[in-house]
Amino acid sequence: MEQKINIRLSFIALLAVVFVTAANLLVFYNLFRTQITNDLKMNARMLMETEVFQREYDSLGNDPEMLSSSTLNKLETGDVRLTWIAEDGTVLFDNDAGASGLANHLDRPEIQEAMTNGEGESIRSSQTLGMDTYYYALRLENGTVLRVSTQAHAIAGVFFRSLPIVAVVALLIFGICIVLGHALSRQIIQPIEKMAEEIDKPTSEPPYKELEPFAAKIRTQHENLLEAVKTRQDFTANVSHELKTPLTAISGYAELIENGLADPESEKHIAQQIRANSDRLLQLINDTIQLSRLDHGETGNNNEEIDLYKAASECCRNLKVSAERNNILLTCDGRSAAIRGDEEQIKELIENLVQNGIRYNNAGGYVRVSVRHEDGHAVLSVRDNGIGIAKEKQSRVFERFYRVDKSRSRDSGGTGLGLALVKHIAEIHNADIEMESTPGVGTVISVHFPEISSVSIQSVS
Ligand code: ADP
Repeated sequence: MEQKINIRLSFIALLAVVFVTAANLLVFYNLFRTQITNDLKMNARMLMETEVFQREYDSLGNDPEMLSSSTLNKLETGDVRLTWIAEDGTVLFDNDAGASGLANHLDRPEIQEAMTNGEGESIRSSQTLGMDTYYYALRLENGTVLRVSTQAHAIAGVFFRSLPIVAVVALLIFGICIVLGHALSRQIIQPIEKMAEEIDKPTSEPPYKELEPFAAKIRTQHENLLEAVKTRQDFTANVSHELKTPLTAISGYAELIENGLADPESEKHIAQQIRANSDRLLQLINDTIQLSRLDHGETGNNNEEIDLYKAASECCRNLKVSAERNNILLTCDGRSAAIRGDEEQIKELIENLVQNGIRYNNAGGYVRVSVRHEDGHAVLSVRDNGIGIAKEKQSRVFERFYRVDKSRSRDSGGTGLGLALVKHIAEIHNADIEMESTPGVGTVISVHFPEISSVSIQSVS
């Protein structure tokens, strides 16, 4: 992270240095050009005013041949080249190359401009590499043109000359960027590290505003994780505890037989107890395996098309014997309703609800299973006229190992996991559970599944 910040800062600095240098160069170069042209203008006017020039100018009026190059050469022009051009473009005098060798100057842009406008300027690349020549031409009253010129560095030349300074400045800025980047990244990262260390403390505040949503999310996730770990630990402890009871019973009964303490009359009872406890153990193990599968996100084949009514009828058939044994009237009615999900899981859900209806009922009671359509939902209802559940306990019965009456649940083969499984399976199938229960009157648990339109399921009458 720190390295990334450093690289980005340095890159931004480099861009800034390049742009600022380029912009400065352009601005100063323009100023420089204006300055040179102004200097040339001033030079031309000063030269015109000199006595030497005036004298030559006057004598020129009569005859160009009268112009004395040697006199004009005496003029102090410094670096400035002076050229005097006749109206027809002939070079009358040039203090640099001499007049005779020079070609007609009428085609030069500054001369043409001066001829028409009185004065003219132009800049041309010089023969010397990296230099430009600046020209200023002035038409005199007699129609001849006085031209002054000088050489100066071209923009590329100025740029190359400024490169070392630019490089030094860039290096300096790079250095500053690395130091700043380091400090900046520390400033950003350190509070995050601190926050990570103190994530357990509920009072710890995020170091800056921008981190608030992130901190809140992390904290929630952390809390959820702790909660999940605790639930799992509790679950493991509960399972171990639940396993212990039937195993202790089985071991006790086996010991009776082993020591020859079981008389022939009680033998049958002992065998029954061993079987009941083994069944409980098996049920407990089955439910635990199911729950842990669901916990690990195993959703089964969640895309089967299931006829909810058909599944309910099958479950009722399977539990008919158990209902009769408990003197409970078990009925199933309704119409075909197509839902999508895992058939095994759906049957598990229905059986758990029906079994509870039988288990927490009174002899002579009933359990009515029905399937109906309601607002685009397939609704499974399991109604009983059993012992019911008190209002304050209704929300808790879906917790793992929560039982209203522990001994009644155990005696009837309950594991305390049935409704937890129901809740889990319903969630996987996007179904909502509704519970209505009154102690002494009975319980109705309805599961609302999203219904799908089906062509394969035929209405069962
Ligand atoms: P169990 O295996 O003990 O039946 P469940 O998770 O299925 O576990 O149910 C939790 C508790 O909810 C039961 O122990 C029982 O006290 C109560 N309960 C569940 N269904 C009914 C019902 N239909 N009528 C009355 N009480 C019920």
